[in-house]
Amino acid sequence: MIIAIDGPAAAGKGTLARRLAAELAFDYLDTGQIYRAVGMRVARTGADPADPALAADAARALVPADLHAGDLRGDDAAQAASKVAAIPEVRAALLDFQRAFAARPPGGSGAVLDGRDIGTVVCPDAPIKLFVTASLEKRAERRVKELRQRGLIAIQETVLAEMRERDTRDSSRSVAPLVPADDAFVLDTTELDADAAFAAAIGFVRSRMPVD
Ligand code: C5P
Repeated sequence: MIIAIDGPAAAGKGTLARRLAAELAFDYLDTGQIYRAVGMRVARTGADPADPALAADAARALVPADLHAGDLRGDDAAQAASKVAAIPEVRAALLDFQRAFAARPPGGSGAVLDGRDIGTVVCPDAPIKLFVTASLEKRAERRVKELRQRGLIAIQETVLAEMRERDTRDSSRSVAPLVPADDAFVLDTTELDADAAFAAAIGFVRSRMPVD
């Protein structure tokens, strides 16, 4: 059983995906972390993550320990991720790992994957797909709150502008752009808190799961 969750940054999909995985005792893969790790492998050398050859080399050389680097959650990593993510060779190099996880999750019962192209490219046959979204203003507001809670300085206008830039790059790239799959359940969390979003999502998921 595979649950595919896609959507733009800070729409609440990570929180939701983790909670669904815990509820169903499925394994969870945050695919954004993989792109962040590739982006930072390039950025840490001082090179430009948008360089196709360097980014593709970094994607091919990725090892599991890279996913636990301490500098992956910040906005520098997000921007670097979105630059390497627009390069077709990078996406191709990361596809097998994501599909293998979905097909054979470590715990053996099911997998929840979240990202931008899980329902459209990585697992187009997933029986359950969600597209989690929210207004740009609301997502920027949530991101600012999260950064401040982590003790970082965050300016609403800057966060919003960076998020808009990343949305545009993710949605307009030629390969695997951010779009809902035709058969995805679209969940708009602009007016929902985490509990209400989870209630709506688990209701949909259960309606699609085989009853035993
Ligand atoms: O989800 P997160 O914000 O960590 O993702 C960082 C960036 O990685 C996204 O802005 C996007 O460019 C890229 N990404 C992607 N495809 C995925 C997951 C993330 O292109 N499946």
